[in-house]
Amino acid sequence: MQRTVFNDEHEAFRKTARAFIESRVAPVYDQWYEAGIVPREFYTELADLGVFGIEVPEQYGGAGIESFKFQAILVEETTRAGVSFGGSGVHVGLCLPYLKNLATDEQKQRWLPGFISGEIMFAIAMTEPGTGSDLAGMRTTAQLSEDGTHYVLNGAKTFITGGVHADRVIVCARTAPPSDTDRRHGISLLVVDTTSPGYAVGRKLDKLGLKVSDTAELSFTDVRVPVSDLLGEADKGFRYLGQNLPQERLSIALGAYAQAKAAIRFTLEYTRGRSVFGQPVAQFQNTKFELAACQAEVDAAEAVVDRALEALDRDELTAADAASAKLFCSEVASRVIDRCLQLHGGYGYINEYPVARLYADNRVNRIYGGTSEVMKMIIAKEMGL
Ligand SMILES: Cc1cc2nc3c(=O)[nH]c(=O)nc-3n(C[C@H](O)[C@H](O)[C@H](O)COP(=O)(O)OP(=O)(O)OC[C@H]3O[C@@H](n4cnc5c(N)ncnc54)[C@H](O)[C@@H]3O)c2cc1C
Repeated sequence: MQRTVFNDEHEAFRKTARAFIESRVAPVYDQWYEAGIVPREFYTELADLGVFGIEVPEQYGGAGIESFKFQAILVEETTRAGVSFGGSGVHVGLCLPYLKNLATDEQKQRWLPGFISGEIMFAIAMTEPGTGSDLAGMRTTAQLSEDGTHYVLNGAKTFITGGVHADRVIVCARTAPPSDTDRRHGISLLVVDTTSPGYAVGRKLDKLGLKVSDTAELSFTDVRVPVSDLLGEADKGFRYLGQNLPQERLSIALGAYAQAKAAIRFTLEYTRGRSVFGQPVAQFQNTKFELAACQAEVDAAEAVVDRALEALDRDELTAADAASAKLFCSEVASRVIDRCLQLHGGYGYINEYPVARLYADNRVNRIYGGTSEVMKMIIAKEMGL
């Protein structure tokens, strides 16, 4: 079916992105994969392409386009090529909405030009060693100093994407205890300068997949954060997370859909070239049925992400809509990629083959940004259950 979600301008951007990936990323990607990280200087190169400024308002140096569709194209194109831009997806896809929606004019002037140029890379730190799904249970504290000039940040975060390269991290911390009626009260968002004394990057975690994405542990020991770096109002952080998580979940849904689609593409190519019992694997009826079933699932996922993309651009994507899209697309991708890997035989298990990397990369879609179980809780609540 013809997709209607993208116009000519989007498709022109897709061509540029595809050419950039082919010329600048694909030739060196194996080196990044071995190193387990995207080189820091790549982010300035990506910035030169203009991708970080697309959604930034013009008065701060951006293009002022109020649409997530260009980012969606980047997700689709990197996945199609079997590559990743590391933590930059979090920088632009997750952190920018917080800055746009919550930062004051003075903060935007300080942060957004560097955001666009790739000189100030952002990450976001919600998860802690002791709590992920139940964010209201976080223990990192930010205590206001007696003179009211700064917060004193103490605690630890884990699984932070972009945590090694980040220059500023949006840290969620308790500035007040939970109230008797609301466990979620008392959390604030602080934009922490990663060069501050007491701020430390711990291990870069060795993951099953997403090998080029730097996922790190962070710790804070008496880190002084000026009150001028508080994002939004104090104690209302949980509400802000609720407002911004739907976009994060849609981008995960989109990534999962794109991975499933890429798996089919890689598998068509592989099974046409591989002969077994005197004929290409693609000629067996089982292969045709498997790939046809996968294609039907991917078509359904495409309809879901496209509808959600339109809803997001209209500012109508609800928490339950995004949870539903993430749950569905990540489960589809797991099924499809598994079946595609099977059709590769032993080669599907070898990391040199893109389907093997997809298999490992995809697994986290059912976990991060909220697990599938948490997505079900959100959907069930919306159903009145
Ligand atoms: C590669 C990667 C990148 C990440 N990037 C970031 C990042 O940039 N920033 C960030 O803040 N976090 C990040 N995360 C963290 C991620 O969002 C959390 O791992 C996720 O939310 C789950 O939290 P948890 O790991 O603590 O699991 P837990 O909350 O401990 O969950 C364990 C199990 O219990 C289940 N469970 C939990 N609550 C319930 C319930 N009420 N009912 C039934 N079952 C339940 C879960 O579904 C899961 O199966 C990242 C994680 C990974 C792996």
